[in-house]
Amino acid sequence: MIWLFVFIIIDTQILKDIFTMKTKKLFLIIVPLIVIGSYFVIPPSGNSIITSGQTMSDSTKHAKGDNMNTKVVKTEEEWKKELTPEEYRVLREKGTERAFTGKYDHFFEKGVYKCAACGNVLFSSDSKYNSGCGWPSYWTPLAKDKIILREDRSFGMVRTEVLCARCGSHLGHVFDDGPEPTGQRYCINSVSLQFEKTEDTK
Ligand SMILES: [Zn+2]
Repeated sequence: MIWLFVFIIIDTQILKDIFTMKTKKLFLIIVPLIVIGSYFVIPPSGNSIITSGQTMSDSTKHAKGDNMNTKVVKTEEEWKKELTPEEYRVLREKGTERAFTGKYDHFFEKGVYKCAACGNVLFSSDSKYNSGCGWPSYWTPLAKDKIILREDRSFGMVRTEVLCARCGSHLGHVFDDGPEPTGQRYCINSVSLQFEKTEDTK
């Protein structure tokens, strides 16, 4: 009887050992799974449409001190609520306003033009000119890092799309038939812009 009792004690000890070993093994398996799982559930930030674009510039990252370097990432539902249907069509669905109908086509007051979606200051009246193309035209943005340029092969053409670097909204296109000193024409939808008058005119 005593031997049987001893055997039971030893046996339960073995079972305990096995159990703790299993728990340790399970722990070793579960922890990496949680770590890997959380990576997929919570993807790393900053992986928005903006980063997939080809940036125009590698230069000045700190432009004009308007504290507008923070990216704006919103869902299409959020944009839809904030923008008018026409703004949404142009800014978020890459639409184009009808030529010669935009509010800034023949508008030449002194000031700056902001992104109508996020307020990023994009263009100055100093670089605005009348190209006659039917849309507001600028020979340069305020700073190269204000915008993103991306190849656009829609409608059977190869064009360069201009997007807001802060929120990724569509602004217009840039062409190589502009005036000096850049020779570029930033052809931008009025709908994509919001003018703001500035006091210190040059
Ligand atoms: Zn913007």
